[in-house]
Amino acid sequence: MSITSSKVIEILNRIDDVMNENKQFLTDLDAAVGDGDHGINMSRGFNAVREKLKTNTINKIGDIFKVVGMTLVATVGGASGPLYGTAFMKAAVVVQNNEELDINDLLKVMEAALEGIMYRGKAQAGEKTMLDVIIPAINALKAGISENKKTVDILFDVKEAAKAGVEYTKTIIATKGRASYLGDRSISHQDPGATSSYLMLNVIYEEIKKLQ
Ligand code: ADP
Ligand code: MG
Repeated sequence: MSITSSKVIEILNRIDDVMNENKQFLTDLDAAVGDGDHGINMSRGFNAVREKLKTNTINKIGDIFKVVGMTLVATVGGASGPLYGTAFMKAAVVVQNNEELDINDLLKVMEAALEGIMYRGKAQAGEKTMLDVIIPAINALKAGISENKKTVDILFDVKEAAKAGVEYTKTIIATKGRASYLGDRSISHQDPGATSSYLMLNVIYEEIKKLQ
């Protein structure tokens, strides 16, 4: 099963809706461990992405991701703008000429995104960041592909792994980003960036489920 570039844009628009719906929630999470802007950042960024994609007709998925990456870097302040922006720009390269995307392409996209985030942010797994969602999500994606599962079932496993990753961030101390200033006091709080990564992966699952 593969999706077209117009479905990719639909998913990005849906991510914008979800970031708007969760703006206060993400901001509250960030207020507890950081500076309380993560919801504002994410919704501002994806609103700008929606506007950019509305006024351009783009067929190549690489070009769509490039617009997303550049728009996030340009409009989102804080750590998450450059990190998510780099993720999409790196992802753009591996699907540059694709007009469709299948589950193997998604794996390439997520691996490139992870590489970009790790290069920029210099964080590892277990530091209470978005990586604690993205890394287990990629592992679930790889496992599902090697077990020849149906795409929608793989994406279900991916979003469940992401959800477990968010829960895991409650049990660890932040050693990267603003939350690291709190030291031990960061424990028991869920990481805002891990939460926004989960929300995106959940949108992908929900949107592909609709196609069944
Ligand atoms: P800021 O911390 O600059 O205010 P945001 O609030 O938008 O930016 O984003 C905070 C999120 O960014 C954190 O919850 C964490 O998941 C993520 N983050 C911060 N630093 C890093 C890093 N070095 N590597 C990966 N993710 C990071
Ligand atoms: Mg913040």
